[in-house]
Amino acid sequence: MEILKKDIQYIKGVGPKRLSLLKKLKIYNVEDMIYHFPRDYDDRSISKKIIELKPGDKTTIYVVITGKCQTPFSRKGLNINKYLAKDDTGFITITFFNQPYIKNILKLNDELMINGKVKMGLQGLEIINPIYEILKEKDCSSSLNSIVPIYPSTEGINQSYLIGIKKNVLSMTQNATLDYLPESILEKNKLCSLDFALKNIHFPSTVKELKIAKYRLVFDELLLLQLALIRIKKRVINEKKSPSLNINEGLSSFINSLPFELTKAQKIVLKEIMEDLEEGTPMNRLVQGDVGSGKTIVAIIALYKAFINGFQGALMAPTEILAEQHYVAIRQLLEPIGVRVGLLIGSIKKSNKQQLLQEIKVGKIDIVVGTHALIQETVCFRQLALVITDEQHRFGVRQRAILADKGDNPHILVMTATPIPRTLALILYGDLDISIIDELPPGRKKIKTYGLTTEEKERAYHFAKKELSLGRQVYVVCPLVEESEAIEAKAATEIKEELAATYFCEYKVGLLHGKMSAKEKETVMKQFLSNEINILVSTTVIEVGVNVPNATIMIIENAERFGLAQLHQLRGRVGRGRFQSYCILIHNNKSKIAKERIKIMEETNDGFIISEKDLEVRGPGEFFGIRQHGLPDLKIANLFKHMKVLKRVQKQVEELLDEDPALCLEQYPALKGKLDEKFNSFEGT
Ligand code: ADP
Ligand code: MG
Repeated sequence: MEILKKDIQYIKGVGPKRLSLLKKLKIYNVEDMIYHFPRDYDDRSISKKIIELKPGDKTTIYVVITGKCQTPFSRKGLNINKYLAKDDTGFITITFFNQPYIKNILKLNDELMINGKVKMGLQGLEIINPIYEILKEKDCSSSLNSIVPIYPSTEGINQSYLIGIKKNVLSMTQNATLDYLPESILEKNKLCSLDFALKNIHFPSTVKELKIAKYRLVFDELLLLQLALIRIKKRVINEKKSPSLNINEGLSSFINSLPFELTKAQKIVLKEIMEDLEEGTPMNRLVQGDVGSGKTIVAIIALYKAFINGFQGALMAPTEILAEQHYVAIRQLLEPIGVRVGLLIGSIKKSNKQQLLQEIKVGKIDIVVGTHALIQETVCFRQLALVITDEQHRFGVRQRAILADKGDNPHILVMTATPIPRTLALILYGDLDISIIDELPPGRKKIKTYGLTTEEKERAYHFAKKELSLGRQVYVVCPLVEESEAIEAKAATEIKEELAATYFCEYKVGLLHGKMSAKEKETVMKQFLSNEINILVSTTVIEVGVNVPNATIMIIENAERFGLAQLHQLRGRVGRGRFQSYCILIHNNKSKIAKERIKIMEETNDGFIISEKDLEVRGPGEFFGIRQHGLPDLKIANLFKHMKVLKRVQKQVEELLDEDPALCLEQYPALKGKLDEKFNSFEGT
């Protein structure tokens, strides 16, 4: 084991200069070097005949040199050596630039294997500066007739250096790597040994060996991650004590006083939450529910339960607009029954903030609604028992943990409108229990969605005018500019000016973007909510949560720039009341994929289907911002590409849990050791 932890600077070939470059690649010790995997491979084992070659091919051929070395004169002062070579199907010229010594190496009638890029030269096919090997000298360490790794690298470190050092390190560690997976797991899942995998992921002799090695390493990576997450969950449940909130006085009369009856799905999820809250161990629950499924009210009921029991609760939202909206909603429902609610966002005045912080600290405020400002160090609670984060896909494990630290193991509830397939949820939210609100409140009409090309855009505005004349309201979402909020804001301002001066000159057009102050945003949102503003031109700041039931049209400009899940979120801003609502996707992309995406949006309103399609297109890394979740980087596994392996892994984990419900892994000490080593810092949050 020791050898794996050996500092890379003590390895042959690593001087001070290389050392700092290797550190840039995050290679600090021998193990890092081994786990620095190829990003791709160059398969030189596939050879061709000359007759099959086309200019542009990069390939291996077997030839015999049929002519003496020619050294034509070059005006540019280059040294050029040319050979004519053949196989049994044709001839090819092999040209070497600036390799004068080649004359002494390659001789008439030598048999060669060469690999390089084929060109059409003046005298027919030609390969310039190929990699070559004289066949009579061929030995088994040939790198030409094999699959050659290509590593992620950095300037100053070339591939052959990396290949050399990897070979060295692998031979040093042969048989020194402990296989932490027990025989039984290897057997059941048809996994090769770790030694084999680590050697062959770098230097496989055949594509099949590479596959076998890769399967093992992908399996390991996913298994360790899944186990680590479940262990966090188990640890939280088994070892920590949380306030048990079992007073329910007034709770049902509050629920009965709501202006609507909870849906069946809301009731089921609420029951799960209530049970968790009554346990003396912390709740760690994720509520997934499509846009508009009514997650907020479930959160409010849970917060009220904390209040009844004499504790404080906190609700954290990803944007100020959303935080404010929740604040208003909660005050409306809970202030009349004696609950004191506070709003803590970054932009409130310093003096107000001081006072608010003081009130939170002494318990004069019962429920605090806020943004990231809530997880700042200065915020102390008197008795925090419940923390809810809304639209959790934007909060990571770590952020949740910081907030949880503010109380004495408060119960944690996270809510997300990004529904994902169960397999992925199990790993991305593996440390949480999952509840799903899989039903919309009754009476909702399906939002009708249409794609229009940029040329047809006016039709959208005309249609919007019709709705406006009926008293409804309109959102216009401006193109997404990922690189710059400032450019995005500018574009939004221009669109607003234009629309206000032309199509919608009889109406009041408002503007909302990320560069506005919180105060300005709040004013605009209030005006939109009260229909003083009829048309809201906005950037994606309205993406999450905003609730204006009278708005019935969502026009999205340059819809091709958004991900499907994001379009679905945006679309969820309409269809929140009793009116038929519409979403119009304006796009100027004629590609097949773009058309298909628009078609998916037109055809379905189901967030699960949409996110699955989105995953197919973008892959989960991008989709979720894996790093945002606080999960360690995956080196080799890809949650979407390796979904099948992930399923196997989850089956294996289930079996492990049957055998060892507390997941102590006492019977697998090596596996336990590996998990501790790999995830201790991560779990420690
Ligand atoms: P989301 O799940 O997207 O956060 P919200 O909680 O904002 O959805 O709810 C969307 C709208 O549906 C709100 O106006 C809310 O008052 C309303 N709503 C929630 N539950 C019900 C219900 N059971 N019956 C009718 N309307 C409901
Ligand atoms: Mg919401």
